[in-house]
Amino acid sequence: MKRRTFIRTASASGLACTLPPIFPNFYNSDYSMEELMGKADVELYGEGINLRKEACDSFLEMKKAAFTDGFDIKMVSSFRDYYRQEGIWERKYLRFTEDDGMEPLDAIEKIIEYSTIPGTSRHHWGTDIDIIDGYPNITNNVLDPEKFGPGGPFEGFKLWMDENSEKYGFYLVYTNESKRRGFKYEPWHYSYAPLSIPMLTAYRKLNILKLLQREEFLGSEHFTAGFIRTYIQDNILDINPKLL
Ligand SMILES: [Zn+2]
Repeated sequence: MKRRTFIRTASASGLACTLPPIFPNFYNSDYSMEELMGKADVELYGEGINLRKEACDSFLEMKKAAFTDGFDIKMVSSFRDYYRQEGIWERKYLRFTEDDGMEPLDAIEKIIEYSTIPGTSRHHWGTDIDIIDGYPNITNNVLDPEKFGPGGPFEGFKLWMDENSEKYGFYLVYTNESKRRGFKYEPWHYSYAPLSIPMLTAYRKLNILKLLQREEFLGSEHFTAGFIRTYIQDNILDINPKLL
Protein backbone atom coordinates (compact mmCIF):
# COMPACT_ATOMS: atom_id res chain seq x y z
CA MET A 1 0.00 0.00 0.00
CA LYS A 2 1.31 3.44 -0.86
CA ARG A 3 2.00 5.68 2.11
CA ARG A 4 -0.32 8.46 0.94
CA THR A 5 -3.23 6.08 0.42
CA PHE A 6 -2.65 4.62 3.83
CA ILE A 7 -2.71 7.99 5.57
CA ARG A 8 -5.92 8.93 3.79
CA THR A 9 -7.58 5.65 4.73
CA ALA A 10 -6.33 5.85 8.28
CA SER A 11 -7.59 9.37 8.90
CA ALA A 12 -10.90 8.59 7.23
CA SER A 13 -11.46 5.82 9.74
CA GLY A 14 -10.34 8.07 12.59
CA LEU A 15 -7.28 5.97 13.38
CA ALA A 16 -4.59 8.50 12.47
CA CYS A 17 -3.90 9.83 15.95
CA THR A 18 -3.58 6.47 17.62
CA LEU A 19 -1.08 5.06 15.14
CA PRO A 20 2.67 5.22 15.69
CA PRO A 21 4.68 7.29 13.18
CA ILE A 22 3.56 5.55 10.05
CA PHE A 23 6.03 3.13 8.39
CA PRO A 24 9.48 1.73 9.03
CA ASN A 25 12.04 3.87 7.23
CA PHE A 26 12.81 1.48 4.41
CA TYR A 27 9.50 2.31 2.81
CA ASN A 28 10.82 5.81 2.31
CA SER A 29 13.90 4.64 0.45
CA ASP A 30 14.08 5.55 -3.21
CA TYR A 31 16.44 2.66 -3.78
CA SER A 32 15.51 -1.00 -4.03
CA MET A 33 17.47 -3.81 -2.44
CA GLU A 34 18.40 -5.12 -5.92
CA GLU A 35 19.67 -1.70 -6.91
CA LEU A 36 21.77 -1.35 -3.77
CA MET A 37 23.27 -4.81 -4.27
CA GLY A 38 24.11 -4.33 -7.93
CA LYS A 39 21.44 -6.67 -9.22
CA ALA A 40 19.11 -4.19 -10.91
CA ASP A 41 19.28 -2.71 -14.38
CA VAL A 42 20.32 0.84 -13.65
CA GLU A 43 20.19 3.56 -16.29
CA LEU A 44 23.77 4.65 -16.84
CA TYR A 45 25.07 7.64 -18.75
CA GLY A 46 28.17 8.68 -20.65
CA GLU A 47 30.27 6.71 -23.10
CA GLY A 48 33.02 5.03 -21.10
CA ILE A 49 31.67 6.76 -17.99
CA ASN A 50 28.66 4.66 -16.92
CA LEU A 51 27.33 6.62 -14.00
CA ARG A 52 23.89 7.77 -12.91
CA LYS A 53 22.85 10.90 -14.77
CA GLU A 54 23.61 13.49 -12.10
CA ALA A 55 26.97 11.93 -11.29
CA CYS A 56 27.85 11.70 -14.97
CA ASP A 57 27.02 15.38 -15.59
CA SER A 58 29.14 16.46 -12.66
CA PHE A 59 31.97 14.13 -13.65
CA LEU A 60 32.07 15.72 -17.12
CA GLU A 61 32.29 19.18 -15.60
CA MET A 62 35.12 18.10 -13.34
CA LYS A 63 36.89 16.46 -16.27
CA LYS A 64 36.65 19.68 -18.26
CA ALA A 65 38.09 21.75 -15.40
CA ALA A 66 40.92 19.26 -14.88
CA PHE A 67 41.70 19.33 -18.57
CA THR A 68 42.04 23.11 -18.49
CA ASP A 69 44.57 22.67 -15.68
CA GLY A 70 46.56 20.05 -17.58
CA PHE A 71 45.14 16.71 -16.38
CA ASP A 72 43.32 14.17 -18.50
CA ILE A 73 41.01 12.26 -16.15
CA LYS A 74 40.78 8.67 -17.28
CA MET A 75 38.14 6.30 -15.95
CA VAL A 76 39.60 2.98 -14.85
CA SER A 77 36.39 1.63 -13.34
CA SER A 78 32.91 2.93 -12.53
CA PHE A 79 29.70 0.88 -12.41
CA ARG A 80 30.22 -2.79 -11.76
CA ASP A 81 27.28 -5.11 -11.17
CA TYR A 82 26.94 -7.92 -8.66
CA TYR A 83 27.96 -10.59 -11.14
CA ARG A 84 31.18 -8.84 -12.19
CA GLN A 85 32.11 -8.44 -8.53
CA GLU A 86 31.33 -12.11 -7.97
CA GLY A 87 33.75 -12.98 -10.79
CA ILE A 88 36.50 -10.83 -9.28
CA TRP A 89 35.89 -12.34 -5.85
CA GLU A 90 35.90 -15.95 -6.99
CA ARG A 91 39.00 -15.52 -9.15
CA LYS A 92 40.92 -14.15 -6.18
CA TYR A 93 39.50 -16.77 -3.83
CA LEU A 94 40.66 -19.59 -6.09
CA ARG A 95 44.09 -18.04 -6.60
CA PHE A 96 44.68 -17.62 -2.87
CA THR A 97 43.23 -20.94 -1.72
CA GLU A 98 44.32 -23.24 -4.56
CA ASP A 99 47.47 -21.69 -6.05
CA ASP A 100 48.80 -20.20 -2.82
CA GLY A 101 47.37 -22.85 -0.49
CA MET A 102 45.87 -20.35 1.95
CA GLU A 103 43.19 -21.25 4.48
CA PRO A 104 39.73 -19.97 3.43
CA LEU A 105 39.50 -17.37 6.20
CA ASP A 106 43.02 -16.07 5.49
CA ALA A 107 42.17 -15.87 1.80
CA ILE A 108 39.01 -13.89 2.57
CA GLU A 109 40.95 -11.46 4.80
CA LYS A 110 43.45 -11.00 1.99
CA ILE A 111 40.76 -10.40 -0.65
CA ILE A 112 39.04 -7.74 1.43
CA GLU A 113 42.19 -5.65 1.65
CA TYR A 114 41.18 -4.23 -1.74
CA SER A 115 38.13 -6.07 -3.07
CA THR A 116 34.60 -6.11 -1.77
CA ILE A 117 32.26 -8.98 -1.10
CA PRO A 118 29.78 -9.20 -4.03
CA GLY A 119 26.65 -7.24 -3.13
CA THR A 120 28.57 -4.80 -0.92
CA SER A 121 30.55 -2.76 -3.45
CA ARG A 122 30.03 0.97 -3.78
CA HIS A 123 30.71 0.40 -7.47
CA HIS A 124 27.27 -1.28 -7.62
CA TRP A 125 25.65 2.13 -7.15
CA GLY A 126 26.66 4.03 -10.31
CA THR A 127 28.10 6.79 -8.12
CA ASP A 128 31.69 5.70 -7.55
CA ILE A 129 34.75 5.92 -9.77
CA ASP A 130 38.37 4.80 -9.92
CA ILE A 131 40.33 7.40 -11.88
CA ILE A 132 43.87 8.25 -12.95
CA ASP A 133 45.53 10.92 -15.06
CA GLY A 134 45.78 9.74 -18.66
CA TYR A 135 48.80 11.89 -19.53
CA PRO A 136 51.69 10.03 -17.86
CA ASN A 137 52.47 6.98 -19.93
CA ILE A 138 51.71 4.32 -17.33
CA THR A 139 50.29 1.07 -18.60
CA ASN A 140 50.49 -1.45 -15.79
CA ASN A 141 49.37 -1.45 -12.19
CA VAL A 142 47.91 2.06 -12.38
CA LEU A 143 45.96 1.66 -9.14
CA ASP A 144 49.03 1.76 -6.93
CA PRO A 145 48.97 4.22 -3.98
CA GLU A 146 52.64 5.10 -4.46
CA LYS A 147 51.96 6.41 -7.95
CA PHE A 148 49.69 9.06 -6.42
CA GLY A 149 52.22 10.08 -3.76
CA PRO A 150 55.39 12.21 -3.70
CA GLY A 151 57.45 11.65 -6.84
CA GLY A 152 54.78 9.44 -8.42
CA PRO A 153 53.37 10.04 -11.91
CA PHE A 154 49.92 10.97 -10.54
CA GLU A 155 51.16 13.20 -7.72
CA GLY A 156 50.10 16.46 -9.40
CA PHE A 157 46.75 14.99 -10.38
CA LYS A 158 46.05 13.87 -6.80
CA LEU A 159 46.88 17.36 -5.53
CA TRP A 160 44.48 18.82 -8.11
CA MET A 161 41.75 16.44 -6.93
CA ASP A 162 42.44 17.36 -3.28
CA GLU A 163 41.90 20.97 -4.22
CA ASN A 164 38.94 20.62 -6.58
CA SER A 165 37.00 17.33 -6.55
CA GLU A 166 34.61 18.27 -3.73
CA LYS A 167 33.38 21.30 -5.69
CA TYR A 168 31.95 18.75 -8.11
CA GLY A 169 30.54 16.50 -5.38
CA PHE A 170 33.30 13.87 -5.61
CA TYR A 171 34.86 12.75 -2.32
CA LEU A 172 37.69 10.35 -1.62
CA VAL A 173 36.19 7.25 0.05
CA TYR A 174 39.12 5.25 1.45
CA THR A 175 41.31 8.00 2.87
CA ASN A 176 44.89 7.88 4.12
CA GLU A 177 43.75 8.40 7.71
CA SER A 178 46.01 6.18 9.81
CA LYS A 179 43.30 5.15 12.28
CA ARG A 180 40.88 4.12 9.54
CA ARG A 181 40.14 0.39 9.37
CA GLY A 182 38.67 -1.60 6.47
CA PHE A 183 39.93 -1.09 2.94
CA LYS A 184 43.39 0.27 2.46
CA TYR A 185 44.10 3.76 1.17
CA GLU A 186 42.73 4.16 -2.37
CA PRO A 187 43.80 7.56 -3.74
CA TRP A 188 41.95 6.76 -6.99
CA HIS A 189 38.46 5.97 -5.64
CA TYR A 190 35.96 8.85 -5.48
CA SER A 191 32.26 8.91 -4.78
CA TYR A 192 29.58 11.32 -5.94
CA ALA A 193 28.25 12.29 -2.51
CA PRO A 194 24.86 13.84 -3.39
CA LEU A 195 23.71 10.39 -4.54
CA SER A 196 25.92 7.99 -2.62
CA ILE A 197 25.12 9.43 0.83
CA PRO A 198 21.39 8.65 0.55
CA MET A 199 22.25 5.31 -1.05
CA LEU A 200 24.51 4.36 1.87
CA THR A 201 21.75 5.41 4.27
CA ALA A 202 19.33 3.10 2.44
CA TYR A 203 21.94 0.33 2.27
CA ARG A 204 22.48 0.42 6.03
CA LYS A 205 18.83 -0.42 6.56
CA LEU A 206 19.16 -3.73 4.72
CA ASN A 207 19.85 -6.91 6.62
CA ILE A 208 23.21 -7.46 4.94
CA LEU A 209 24.02 -10.61 6.91
CA LYS A 210 20.79 -12.28 5.88
CA LEU A 211 21.13 -11.16 2.27
CA LEU A 212 24.71 -12.43 2.00
CA GLN A 213 23.80 -15.76 3.56
CA ARG A 214 21.38 -16.31 0.70
CA GLU A 215 24.19 -15.98 -1.85
CA GLU A 216 26.32 -18.88 -2.99
CA PHE A 217 29.67 -17.74 -4.23
CA LEU A 218 32.99 -19.39 -3.41
CA GLY A 219 33.99 -18.81 0.20
CA SER A 220 30.63 -17.40 1.30
CA GLU A 221 29.99 -20.51 3.39
CA HIS A 222 32.77 -19.31 5.72
CA PHE A 223 31.05 -16.03 6.56
CA THR A 224 29.96 -15.87 10.17
CA ALA A 225 27.70 -13.27 11.77
CA GLY A 226 30.71 -11.83 13.58
CA PHE A 227 32.75 -11.58 10.40
CA ILE A 228 29.98 -9.76 8.55
CA ARG A 229 29.36 -7.41 11.46
CA THR A 230 33.04 -6.43 11.54
CA TYR A 231 33.12 -6.13 7.76
CA ILE A 232 30.16 -3.73 7.78
CA GLN A 233 31.70 -1.69 10.58
CA ASP A 234 35.19 -1.52 9.06
CA ASN A 235 34.86 -1.90 5.29
CA ILE A 236 31.51 -0.30 4.61
CA LEU A 237 31.28 2.34 7.32
CA ASP A 238 34.86 3.29 8.21
CA ILE A 239 35.21 5.64 5.28
CA ASN A 240 35.66 9.37 4.77
CA PRO A 241 33.21 10.76 7.40
CA LYS A 242 31.97 13.31 4.88
CA LEU A 243 30.32 10.41 3.03
CA LEU A 244 28.28 9.16 5.98
ZN1 LIG B 1 37.05 1.60 -6.59
